[in-house]
Amino acid sequence: METDIVIVGAGPAGLCLARSLSASGLRMILIDQQGADELEDPKFDGREIALTQKSVGILKTLGIWNLIGAEAKSSLTHARILNGSSRFALDIGHELSDYAELGWLVPNHLIRKAAYDSVQQQLNGGRIAIMAGERVTGVETDDTGALVHLESGKAISASLVIAADSRFSSTRRMMGISADMHDFGKSMLVCCMTHDVPHHHAAWEWFGYGQTLALLPMNPDPESGAFRSSVVVTLPGREIDRLVNLDVPAFNREIERRFDQRLGRMTLATTRHAYPLVSVYPKRFVGKRFATVGDAAVGMHPVTAHGFNFGLLGIDTLSRAIVAARSKGLDIADDALLQRYENHHRRMTRPLYMITAFITSVYTSESLPAKLARNIMLRAGEHVRPFKRIVAASLAGN
Ligand SMILES: Cc1cc2nc3c(=O)[nH]c(=O)nc-3n(C[C@H](O)[C@H](O)[C@H](O)COP(=O)(O)OP(=O)(O)OC[C@H]3O[C@@H](n4cnc5c(N)ncnc54)[C@H](O)[C@@H]3O)c2cc1C
Repeated sequence: METDIVIVGAGPAGLCLARSLSASGLRMILIDQQGADELEDPKFDGREIALTQKSVGILKTLGIWNLIGAEAKSSLTHARILNGSSRFALDIGHELSDYAELGWLVPNHLIRKAAYDSVQQQLNGGRIAIMAGERVTGVETDDTGALVHLESGKAISASLVIAADSRFSSTRRMMGISADMHDFGKSMLVCCMTHDVPHHHAAWEWFGYGQTLALLPMNPDPESGAFRSSVVVTLPGREIDRLVNLDVPAFNREIERRFDQRLGRMTLATTRHAYPLVSVYPKRFVGKRFATVGDAAVGMHPVTAHGFNFGLLGIDTLSRAIVAARSKGLDIADDALLQRYENHHRRMTRPLYMITAFITSVYTSESLPAKLARNIMLRAGEHVRPFKRIVAASLAGN
């Protein structure tokens, strides 16, 4: 088999990349180990993705945003940061940005579904193909081309291989690219709950003592009209396992208590999902005829909600470079082109990756000096308008 680009992974990043290259006339094969049914109709996975205005703009250009129903898109107008048992909150409002909302919250499985449907609409008479239920087991590249081996025994030759196969990318490893990985030793539980007290479309990031909580405002429950949020609890792995398996009434009471009853009565509305917290930053984003995008390029800690937002930024940068090279009849896998992508994406992502590492170390430390320091930082931050503007700009993706 032969093509121009092999994309390994048909998750949100791989699919958005295929869509953004679909008008270039390039032939592409997307490969994913998941079955066709799972790709076509992904199941709820607990994740509500906070999208920046910048990301929404990219998804609109790709024709993906409009494939997501309005009821599934919830506006994010405020972000509140809380510390310990204090009632004080650093409040970042949309009025600090140029928008009526800082960003939008959309369920991850619906982003996947919309991205999949948009690629299906652009198969360009077979120039784009999705191979489901196939796992990439080997990659070889040299000056003249690339060869991708599949578990089924098939092989595909291509000009360029792009890995979009998650933060634990086996393709990146096959290419000999090492990565800095940080295992936080904690897991995140995510689920949707209804609650008595309105959220006013504010997201909470609550650095409690012995736990980190987040609340992501969703649109009201379509049937009952009850207030609804995505609830995120970060704890050591064994504690999360216990919470996932707790019977529902006991789970509801425990989450109400963990939220200090601030949301009144809370009721589980969906399945519960757990994710181990590991952040990943590879030494290189590119190699010979090889590039990484999405989490395979930058695997963020979710606390600053930038993983997929960075994924879209990288896709935008890389696809523009490939389309420009293609229109000039140049090599789409040229070393210099890939290096420019790497340099740009590193500049766009490295600072926030480092800031996120700092936030997670100071804001989850249980030492008394750290608890005091973050209290002081939050209270000082509330009075420094330029600081709040920077945070608002980051949330909006500017
Ligand atoms: C709890 C949580 C909350 C989050 N919240 C936010 C948020 O608010 N905002 C935000 O921007 N981001 C957020 N993120 C991050 C976001 O979910 C990820 O950045 C995004 O889903 C990554 O997409 P991806 O396509 O790169 O990888 P994935 O979704 O991991 O997809 C990778 C695909 O590759 C396939 N694959 C893997 N290996 C192979 C192989 N060898 N052969 C073939 N196929 C393979 C897999 O089957 C999969 O389909 C959050 C993440 C978590 C865990």
